[in-house]
Parts: sequence; C-alpha cells; structure tokens
Amino acid sequence: MSTALEELRERLAEVSDLEAVVHTLDWDQQTKMPRRGASARAEQLATLERIVHERAAAPELGPLIDRAAEDLAGESPESDDACLVRVARRDFDKACRVPGELKVELARAASLGQEAWARARAESDFGLFRPHLERAVELRQRYVECFADEVECRYDALLDDFEPGARTAEVAEVLAEVRDGLVPLIAQVVERDGEEGPSPLWGSFGRAEQGALVLQVLPRLGFDPSGWRLDEAAHPFAVGLAPGDVRLTTRYDPDHLGMALYSSLHECGHGLYEDGVAPELARTPLRTGASLGLHESQSRLWENYVGRSRAFCGWALPVLRSAFPAAFASLDADGLFRAVNRVHPSLIRVEADEATYSLHVILRFELEQELIEGRLAVANLPEAWNARMWDYLGVEVPDDAHGVLQDVHWSAGLFGYFPTYALGNIIAAQIWERARAELPDLEALIAAGELGELREWLRERLHRHGRKFTPTDTLERVVGGPLAVGPYLDYLRGKLGTVYGLEG
Ligand code: ZN
Repeated sequence: MSTALEELRERLAEVSDLEAVVHTLDWDQQTKMPRRGASARAEQLATLERIVHERAAAPELGPLIDRAAEDLAGESPESDDACLVRVARRDFDKACRVPGELKVELARAASLGQEAWARARAESDFGLFRPHLERAVELRQRYVECFADEVECRYDALLDDFEPGARTAEVAEVLAEVRDGLVPLIAQVVERDGEEGPSPLWGSFGRAEQGALVLQVLPRLGFDPSGWRLDEAAHPFAVGLAPGDVRLTTRYDPDHLGMALYSSLHECGHGLYEDGVAPELARTPLRTGASLGLHESQSRLWENYVGRSRAFCGWALPVLRSAFPAAFASLDADGLFRAVNRVHPSLIRVEADEATYSLHVILRFELEQELIEGRLAVANLPEAWNARMWDYLGVEVPDDAHGVLQDVHWSAGLFGYFPTYALGNIIAAQIWERARAELPDLEALIAAGELGELREWLRERLHRHGRKFTPTDTLERVVGGPLAVGPYLDYLRGKLGTVYGLEG
C-alpha cells in the first residue's frame, strides 16, 4: 500500500504535467500558431484549465494533504517533502476558493483577449481591444471577490498570485522610495544626455546576423541547444516546460540590435532559474521560481548587471564587431558601455533604460489598482495613461500602440503582475552586491566571457530551491536580509555617475 505522501506526489505530478501541457500550447500560440487558430486554441486551453482545476481543487486532496503532513511530523521543515506539503496546502486552499467556471472563463478570455490585443496593437486602435479589457477587468473583479475575507485590499489578492505573501501597502511604500530616488537622478542625467551622438545599437541589422550573434552569446550563460530552444515572439518570454526543455523567445528589430541582444540575455536569465531548480523537484509544485519578483531578479541580473557592465562590454565588443563590422568598427569598449547605459525617457517599457524602467512599472501599478477597485473606467484608460506618462516621464504618447496597447499582460488577465518587474530590479541589486562580495574575481571572469562561476553560484544559492521556501525566506537565504531599496539606488547612482561623469 502506498503512503499518503506517495499518493499526494502522484496527484501533484499529474497536475504538474497538465500545467506543462498548458504552457506548451501557450508557447505554441505565441510562436508558431497561425492567427486563425486562435478561437480553437482558446477552447483547448479552457478545457485544459477545467481539468487542471478539477484536479487541483479535488475534495479528496484536502484530507490527503493532512495525512501526508501527519506522516511527516518530526521531519525537518526544510526537507523537500515538508516544503512540498506546505506549498500543496497553500495551492489547494487558493484553488478551492475559485469556482471552476470562473477559472474556465478566465482562461478563455485570456486566450481571446491576447489575439484581440495583438490586432488592436497592430492597428493602434484601443476600441478593438476595449470590450476584451472590460471583460478581463470584470472577471478579475469576480476573482478578487473569492478572497475578499482574507485581504486588506482587493489588489492584495492579485499580487499574491505572483508575489506570494506580499501586500499592496508594502509594495507601494517600496515603489515610492524607488520613485523618489530615481526622479532626481534621471533629471540630472537627462540634462547631460544631449552631449552623446546617436547610439551604435540603432542602425540596420540583418535578421540572420542578429540570430547568429545571439546564439554565440547565450551559450556563455548556459544555453545548451540539447535542452533549450530560442524562437521569435512579439512579446519575448521564457518558459521552463520540464528539466531539459527550456524555451526562450526574442524579437529581432531590423533597426535596433539592442532589442534581440538584451531581450535574449533577459529571457536566458529566466531560463537559467527554471533550469537550475533541483531535478528532484520536477513534476511537483516546487519545480519553478519562488515568486515573479525573484524570477525577474534573475533576468535583470543577466540583462543589466552583467550585460550592461563595463566588463561585459569589453568582452562583447569584438563579438559585435565580427557580426556587424561597419557598425562597430570605430567604437571602443567605453563607448559601448556608455551606449548601452544611456538614460532617455521613452514610450515603451520593454525598450526603457535601467533608470526609467521602474517608472513605467509604477504607472501600471497605479492604473491597474484603479481599474480593479472601479475608480477608473476602461474607456478612460488611454487618457489616464497618456496623462501619467507626461507627469512621470515627460513624454507625449502619439498613439495607443505606443501607449496603453504596448503590453500583453492585461489582455491575458494578468493584473498584479507588473510590480514584480520593479521588485526584480531591487532584488537583483541585492543579489548582485552579495555575488560580488563572494566572488572576488567576478569582474575579471565577466571580462573574459567566463560566466559559469556566477551561474553556479546563483544555482547553489537560489535556483536549486525552486519554490520550496516563501519569497521572503528565499531572499533571506541568498542575501541574508529582507527586501531593501538601498543597493538598487546605490548601483544606479554609481553606474550613471560613471557614464555621465556626475560628481560623487
Ligand atoms: Zn522578465
């Protein structure tokens, strides 16, 4: 006879397999599927979501988790089994609160919404997307109601799906500290930005050469063609489907080499987190990162802390030069370092520089709270968006494609997701500070293109734990303390001080 724990593991493995199938279909929708497949795909995903939900919220799962917990009495709370039971309990309690029908509606609306959004964005016509967004907001409001008795505010329920345990009030406080630190810094550097000429990353770059360049750089980080893929998607993303199956996507902009290069480094950071989770945690709910904030800390770390460092620029310049001789012939490594770190308030979040990026996130964090709380009508969203872009970044939005329609998230019903991007920036700075202290040769290694030591350090300290511990406990294990904004602001002040020659 099998034990309660064995039975629980078997059931959770089934849910995990089904979720991997959902992710595979979603990956396919975003990379390969012809557009007319959209409505059938929405039904397939809705059907799968129903099956996942039936299994994840099955009534017999509750008593099974209780029995498994009893069997484990006395075992270390840090053991894989104890963590598994704790996380299974949390997931089960959350799943039971949401009616299956609502889950199915959310899945269907997300799939249809993404297609409508893509069309609306291509035509820069918010009107095409508006009914879908109204539906997405209404469904999320119903979702939030399912957690009404246990949250301080509605938005808490959304945030908890991506950053377990985080509270809106705390996040708002942290982001206010970021904003107050960034606004004067940005003002100071923007004044000086006019002195620089055009960026060497803008020009004319062939698709094939860009692809070859990216595939030359990524293996340095740990991209391994026998277990990884790189494809194109309108909105780059990464997904770990299983051990030995990591999917990255990027976008090739013929005018802007930075798009493919830096989005690839970014998504590879996500891929390394997924790939680094201990294989024993496969087919369990612990098989992924502890939170989206921690996940984003890994993508940001590789994209910015490594990829925009002076050391990396020194290594990358000859590689860029061999791919695009004319564009980089007369540039030196200091010039490349300055080019990839320029601060320029702009319209598009995913193209924003490191300093203004978090302001794009704060704007979305505020607007989505207002939408979910019913303080802002979807019809008035474009106007509110444009006004705040002017207030925070001083840029005028010319059309909806470059404004409210630029991100996929809301079309997929993802509210509460955006703040994790800013949390990722903050956490990345804390982890970077710790990595530099513990790996004294780090800069020299990066300058030589030797990135394995950093990857293994991250794997050992963070990745292998997967979702075993809460985000707060996980961060504590890596950096020895709680979330703190100081290292992030210090890092940006230091780097921009060098780039723009500011007084110390
Ligand atoms: Zn990311």
